Amino acid sequence: MAFEGLTERLQNALSGLRRKGKVTDADLRETMREIRLALLEADVNFTVVKDFVRNVREKAAGAKVLEGLNPAQQIVSIVNDELTAMMGESEVPLNVSDKIPTVIMMVGLQGAGKTTTAGKLALKLKSEQNARPLMIAADVYRPAAIDQLKTLGEQIDVPVFEMGTDADPRDIVRQGLAKAAELKSDYVFIDAAGRLQIDETLMQELADVKEIAQPDEILLVVDAMTGQNAVETAEGFNERLDVTGVVLTKLDGDTRGGAALSIRAVTGKPIKFVGQGEKTTDLDIFYPDRMASRILGMGDLLTLIEKAQKDFDEKQAAETMEKMKSNTFDFNDFIDQMDQVQNMGPIEDLLKMIPGMANNPALANVKVDPKDMAHLKAIVMSMTPAERENPDLLNPSRRRRLAAGAGRPIVEVNRMIKQFNEMKKMMSGMMNGNMGGMEQMMNA
Ligand code: GDP
Repeated sequence: MAFEGLTERLQNALSGLRRKGKVTDADLRETMREIRLALLEADVNFTVVKDFVRNVREKAAGAKVLEGLNPAQQIVSIVNDELTAMMGESEVPLNVSDKIPTVIMMVGLQGAGKTTTAGKLALKLKSEQNARPLMIAADVYRPAAIDQLKTLGEQIDVPVFEMGTDADPRDIVRQGLAKAAELKSDYVFIDAAGRLQIDETLMQELADVKEIAQPDEILLVVDAMTGQNAVETAEGFNERLDVTGVVLTKLDGDTRGGAALSIRAVTGKPIKFVGQGEKTTDLDIFYPDRMASRILGMGDLLTLIEKAQKDFDEKQAAETMEKMKSNTFDFNDFIDQMDQVQNMGPIEDLLKMIPGMANNPALANVKVDPKDMAHLKAIVMSMTPAERENPDLLNPSRRRRLAAGAGRPIVEVNRMIKQFNEMKKMMSGMMNGNMGGMEQMMNA
């Protein structure tokens, strides 16, 4: 199975910690060393490993203590989060055009699984959305590629457009697109040529086909079994064609997993699907979080961690409410709130979720720039712990120091403190039953 070696090594690295009630710096260093070796051995890109280890260390140093979890479990939770982030946070859907057809160009080296994946994806769209795809056979070099696509088409009942192996792929694509218009196909798959290696003739041909077809999606198909080569191939194709997504095939095989873990970080392009077998139904959406749990192989522990985090968030929310009510909300709470809110999406949208606020005219023009949030945070970060707890300490000279520390003008610091105080007043008013305060804030 894929990732077997990696899973085992990561588990070993973390199990040492799991027996400990307290994790010392030395323990953490040793664990990180083992994790680093495990990732390198799984053929994860060197730079990606370096960043990963640094991120885990930083997060571990600044971690809050969650009730119900021991320190080791928290490290597992951080490793899990970072593995997920490395693979792209969340799933990325197929680009779909608002005009028909959506054109999907499949590219990749010979044998990576382009033809097979085109068929799998066509079948998926057909069975899940009743789509009417057309597949264009534009790989005129690989012997039998056209026959393979035709056979696949018959098997899944999807039409295939072909002009034999003597035609120019550019003509095939032009005429294939005309055929799609005639058939009113809603998806067109172009099975473009592959070679054993990237070469200039191939790249030029693919660039021409891209120009002609103007695809909504260029899916690069890479074989997970080829490890670092898969990553290099991905970089090569991406530089020339600016691909829009990656499909990682043969994840059912005995791959060490390096490609899955590095491609996103190295190319910046999302893995959208994974092939996990030779059958036409063996294609799945790629979920970075599920893949991370699979790699860590700690299902039960991760569920426990999720629950502890949820309880923690709820407890923190209750505490914040209490602080708002009693008018003791300080800048530490402010930062916590800001972090939580930022994880939830644009603030404009959040404000509109408050009952009765969706149509409030005061909200129509509210736009919160993420850059402003970062500036606010920089100012708070420049405060001493005492200042954060007691904003009344912030006299003019302290304010000047904050402005210098955060690299923001003094007027901005003053404005922020004023708004903070107004917000605090408004919140305590609101919590104690005076809703009118909300409007004051909106107009501030
Ligand atoms: P192409 O040259 O890129 O079009 O590659 P093909 O689609 O012909 O695939 C090459 C080989 O890989 C075929 O034997 C496929 O059955 C096999 N293959 C493709 N995807 C997968 C996968 O996800 N898992 C496994 N086990 N085999 C796959």
